[in-house]
Amino acid sequence: MTPFPREGFRALRRYTPIEDPVEIELSDNTNLWGCHPDALAVMRDAASGDISNYPQAYSSDLRDAVADTFDVPAECVITGCGSDDVLDSTFRAVCDPGARVAFPNPTFLMIPHLLVVNSLQGVPLGDARRPPSPRQLLDAGADLIYVCTPNNPTGTALSRAWIEELLDGVGTTGPVVILDEAYYEFNVASPGYDPGDTSLVERALAVPRIMIARTFSKAYGLAGLRAGFGIAHPDLLGEVEKARGPFKVGLLAERAAAAALCDRSGWLEPTVREIVACRERLVAELRRRGGDPLPSSANFVMLPVPAPAVEVTREMIARGIAVRPFPNVPGVGEALRVTVGPPPVIERFIEAWVDICRPVAGNAGQEAVAAEAAG
Ligand SMILES: *Cc1c(COP(=O)(O)O)cnc(C)c1O
Repeated sequence: MTPFPREGFRALRRYTPIEDPVEIELSDNTNLWGCHPDALAVMRDAASGDISNYPQAYSSDLRDAVADTFDVPAECVITGCGSDDVLDSTFRAVCDPGARVAFPNPTFLMIPHLLVVNSLQGVPLGDARRPPSPRQLLDAGADLIYVCTPNNPTGTALSRAWIEELLDGVGTTGPVVILDEAYYEFNVASPGYDPGDTSLVERALAVPRIMIARTFSKAYGLAGLRAGFGIAHPDLLGEVEKARGPFKVGLLAERAAAAALCDRSGWLEPTVREIVACRERLVAELRRRGGDPLPSSANFVMLPVPAPAVEVTREMIARGIAVRPFPNVPGVGEALRVTVGPPPVIERFIEAWVDICRPVAGNAGQEAVAAEAAG
C-alpha cells in the first residue's frame, strides 16, 4: 500500500499568497489599472437565473470567442479555471507518474508545485541570466518541456528564433511543449518587440505537440474570475480536455471573459501600453539609483537586493507595500519580484526600496543614465 502522505508530498506547502493587509499590492502581477470594463458590465447585468444554472460543461461560448479571436477551429481551444488549470490538465494528460518535465530555471512557482502534486520529476536547466538553449532542454530526456515567455519571475522574453529552434527539435515525435504566454500582451507592447514575431498559434496547430496557454488574470485584469485558455492541435487538446473535466469555468466568468476578449470598448491596448511605459520608467529609475533590475518584457520586474529577500519583503510590508521575495535565485541571488503600478505607486516603492536597501548610484547607475540619455 502507498504510504500516506505519499513520498515527497508531506514536504509540499500550500501556495501562500501574501495575506497581510497592505496598502499597495505588488506581489501578484495583477493589473493595477483595474479590470476590463466590458467584463464588469456583463457581471453587473447578471440576473439570478444566470447563477442557479450550471455553466456549459466545456465553456462553448468562451471557446467560440477564443476561436474567433485567433481564427482557429473551436476544437483547438480549451478553457480552464485560470490557465493554471490548463497547465495542470496538460501535465496530467501527457505524463505518467515519474515522468520528467524540463524547464528553464527559475520559472513559475506553480510548476514545481504541480510537479509534486502529480508525482512528476522536474529537470530545471540554466539560470535567471542565462536560459538554457533549446538543445539543452531537448537533450534532457523529458516527456514534457515547460517554457514560460516572458518568464515569471525574471520577466525575460525568449526570442522567436529560440522558440522556433525548440519547436523544430520537437518535430512530430518529441516531447510535448507547453508555451506559457501569461504575459504575452505586455511582450507585444514592449520596445524592441519584432512585429514580425507574429503569434506562434499557426505553428502550434501544425503538430499535436504544443500547448499555448494564456490567461485573463494579467493584462485583462480579471484574476478574480479564474479563467484562462489554451490553444493546441485537436489530437493533443482532446486528451487534455479529458483531464480538465467539465464545469471548470463559472457561468459568469465565462461570459465576462468572452466580453473582455472581444474588447468592444478598446480598453486593453492603451492600458497595456501604459503599463509598459510605467515599467520602463520603473526600470530606468531603479538603474539611475544604483539598482540592477533584470530587463523585463512583462508587467513586473525582478530586482536583486543586497539582503535576504524575505527580510526585505518584511520591511516592505511594514511600509504598506507587498512584494514577492525570491530567495537564492540561480544566477541572481536574493531578489524581489515587483508588479508595475501607476506612477504614485512606483514612487512609494522606490522610496521604500531606497530606505531599506540603501542602493549606491555608482558606475552602473551612471552608465544606465548615460545610455538612457543617448537614447
Ligand atoms: C499568473 C500566471 C498564470 C495565470 O494564472 P491563472 O491561473 O490564469 O490566474 C499562468 N502562468 C504564469 C507564468 C503566471 O505568472
